[in-house]
Amino acid sequence: MTLAPPPIAMLAELTHRCPLACPYCSNPVKLARQDTELNKETWISAFQQAAALGVLQLHLSGGEPASRRDLTELVTAARAAGLYTNLITSGIGLSERRLADLNQAGLDHIQLSLQGTDAAMADEIGGYRGGFERKMQVAAWIADIGFPLTLNTVLHRRNLHQLPRAIEIAQEMSARRIEVATVQFHGWALRNRDALMPTREQAAETTRVVTEARARLRGKLVIDYVPADYHEEFPKRCMGGWGTTGLNIAPDGQVLPCHAAQTIPHLTFDRIQDKPLAEIWHRSDAFNAYRGTDWMAEPCKSCDRKTVDFGGCRCQALALTGDASATDPACSKSPHHASMQAQAADHAAQVNAALTYRIAPGKPVPAQGKR
Ligand code: SF4
Ligand code: SF4
Repeated sequence: MTLAPPPIAMLAELTHRCPLACPYCSNPVKLARQDTELNKETWISAFQQAAALGVLQLHLSGGEPASRRDLTELVTAARAAGLYTNLITSGIGLSERRLADLNQAGLDHIQLSLQGTDAAMADEIGGYRGGFERKMQVAAWIADIGFPLTLNTVLHRRNLHQLPRAIEIAQEMSARRIEVATVQFHGWALRNRDALMPTREQAAETTRVVTEARARLRGKLVIDYVPADYHEEFPKRCMGGWGTTGLNIAPDGQVLPCHAAQTIPHLTFDRIQDKPLAEIWHRSDAFNAYRGTDWMAEPCKSCDRKTVDFGGCRCQALALTGDASATDPACSKSPHHASMQAQAADHAAQVNAALTYRIAPGKPVPAQGKR
């Protein structure tokens, strides 16, 4: 058997704990409890194994990774293993002192999430009063230290009109990059399609704003863009192709081809506590299930884009067609595409839909609850 090339990046979901309760959170609906989280030593072993396997970039994520008290020690160990370290954070839980410690530990880059461009929007979407003000303070500390920064925005029907201001905020924060991600409907977001689905007009306007801003800010700000795939013609190249460039480790040690892979019920996932990472990457059934193109059926099988998008997202194919090996219905060649677009229009028309907040493990339902 020819071995797959090594992964480039690993996402370490250190915890599912998070002070925020974003209704689009990509974490699974069944969140990992704190008492199932990997301990520090196992994470460090995972980082060392990842570096030995060929991983170059480590993304420290969650939940909120700052909820781990040993975050600085984990960064120190990852840098010692030779990994480029990127912290993906809401900022809540980071103090000036902690950021200085992370800088001392060698943290290379920060991605800061933005739930809205003003306190009213950001605090409502994050389900956390005072979160926006705190985040702006954290952003100022990040700038003072001089961390390279990417601003992560998740946009949906309620806040898409704030995109121009989000781009301005990225510049004010001296961010090098902004990720403009239209909400992808996995995890909690799938439950919130009525409340979050953008209209077709909003999706088109977002593309126009991004195109204009890219031209205007060339050389000053990089804009990464994830369009609203329910309104697109072709699907996204999910994870760069299943088992191709990246892997995730969940808080409880399950090694996943993508963050939503646990929604595919016929797959079982090995744990980093039980098997070497290299063996899981190269030989596990889960990683080989949709690797490459041999698994494809028509219309992907004979399509000239099959090594461009690898048939789109397996988890979305399952969620919307009941078959994880089907063509992602975001593709116009899928027999389910028209139905997906009709569903998008129906969801987008639910103007009075309430948000269902993500409920953190070990915490009560946020005071806002369902609204
Ligand atoms: S999306 Fe929101 S709730 Fe989910 S981990 Fe990020 S900040 Fe926390
Ligand atoms: S048919 Fe499959 S490979 Fe072709 S564009 Fe659609 S999703 Fe991609």
